[in-house]
Amino acid sequence: MNPPVNPVASAELPGHPFVAYRDDALHVEDVALSALAQTHGTPLFVYSKAAMLSALAAYQRGFAGRDAQICYAMKANSSLGVLQVFAQAGCGFDIVSGGELARVLAAGGDARKIIFSGVGKTRAEMRQALTAGIGCFNVESEAELDVLSGVASAMNLRAPVSIRVNPNVDPKTHPYISTGLKGNKFGVAHEDALRLYQHAASLQGLQVVGIDCHIGSQITESTPYLDAMDRVLDLVAAIEAAGIPLAHIDFGGGLGINYNDDTPPAADDLWRQLLAKLDARGYGGKKLMIEPGRSLVGNAGVCLTEVLYLKPGEQKSFCIIDAAMNDLPRPSLYQAFHAIVPVDLKARQAAEATYDVVGPVCESGDWIGRDRVLQVAAGEHLAVLSAGAYCMSMASNYNTRG
Ligand SMILES: *Cc1c(COP(=O)(O)O)cnc(C)c1O
Repeated sequence: MNPPVNPVASAELPGHPFVAYRDDALHVEDVALSALAQTHGTPLFVYSKAAMLSALAAYQRGFAGRDAQICYAMKANSSLGVLQVFAQAGCGFDIVSGGELARVLAAGGDARKIIFSGVGKTRAEMRQALTAGIGCFNVESEAELDVLSGVASAMNLRAPVSIRVNPNVDPKTHPYISTGLKGNKFGVAHEDALRLYQHAASLQGLQVVGIDCHIGSQITESTPYLDAMDRVLDLVAAIEAAGIPLAHIDFGGGLGINYNDDTPPAADDLWRQLLAKLDARGYGGKKLMIEPGRSLVGNAGVCLTEVLYLKPGEQKSFCIIDAAMNDLPRPSLYQAFHAIVPVDLKARQAAEATYDVVGPVCESGDWIGRDRVLQVAAGEHLAVLSAGAYCMSMASNYNTRG
């Protein structure tokens, strides 16, 4: 579906179950966005707790009756209020830095449900995580195994570890996968996994507890997950046959959301298929972990912005807004698409025109949407949709913007 350029009144926006027009005014849950803009000013990120819990519920339904732990990948959105929602709902957290660890603990998260991912953990971060008593380090290289063992031994501890394996799922059939392939920096090669597990099991400061993979982000098909699961289960069989028991299997995150015509599987549908495969291969009783980020928060958030100026031109007309690439980096970073919709349909008096929607930052790459048909005037508010994930958490103060 194309973004609703002229949505009808009282309509839910496709893929955004808690964002809807009522009497021509855009609401998140029961709150009118124009009222929030008035009270708090713009640009303003607005998140729906109901939308986050509803996204989480799809995973919880998928895992009903299973020994499973959902670890929210907090790099998607590390606002303390968002973390509190997931901590209170019983989630663990997938972290990638010591800063994220500090935030989880500040938000009341349970350290034992934290898994620590990332290719470049420092010794200081390892010590911080061991002191906090996190549940698992997802180790991404042989060198990291050795350093972590040394750090833990010096503290008279054994660090719980999984090794992140790289399932190398065929890129030709699944072109959107980007982290689970040979030739990128993440994980260890499938062929090296058994040897590294044997090495890990021999190290004083480590306790092998699981296996981990994460194949990419904004994945909109089930097949790559099913293929990756087969590859990981092959390794589980080989590692356990070598006498190294694995208490859990972590399948990472990566499930996509609907930005624009995207049709990812629902989390419960995806997991129905994956669990059927796990059962068929005899691993249905293993503890499962997953690390969803985007799919829990992406469509739970919008960024509210005010139109500052319209700047008509011969080749391009610009709609200049008060949100910019420093607030919403995804378009400039990945050429990503975000739907942009009016907040108040009644206010619209202006003629329809095609605009590049851009921010005030001094870069030509500072655009939020290109060639958008809008009926808009200066002073009106717009909402940038699907702004719950990888927006505020990637924001900067570039141009010394507040
Ligand atoms: C980013 C990341 C995730 C979350 O990915 P999403 O696409 O947001 O679900 C999970 N695990 C690891 C290791 C990651 O780096």
